[in-house]
Amino acid sequence: MRRRRKTPHVPPVGQELDALRAKKIKEVQEHGLAAAGKTLYLKFLHKGSLTRGDAIHAFCYECQGYYSDGRADCEQVMCPLYAFHPYRGVKRSEPVEEGPEE
Ligand code: SF4
Repeated sequence: MRRRRKTPHVPPVGQELDALRAKKIKEVQEHGLAAAGKTLYLKFLHKGSLTRGDAIHAFCYECQGYYSDGRADCEQVMCPLYAFHPYRGVKRSEPVEEGPEE
């Protein structure tokens, strides 16, 4: 089997990174549900520093598409962060109610 040569991943920097942050901030503002990690994720996008625990909640917020479908257990038991997932054991309910942010 012939292996394809991978193009090395180059992380965005400078203006490209700022544009990506601005795009994500807009997405959160337009589609993000008030949920654990929202404020922390926005803090990260505004270049604030986070504790390890805050970073996990912020990451889960991003991972779950800003909980735009509702706050619920991601059920990804094989994710190393699952033990810290803020909605472990929470079933998705309809309709989604807005609640206080963390
Ligand atoms: S625990 Fe769930 S929401 Fe959090 S990073 Fe893992 S898969 Fe995503």
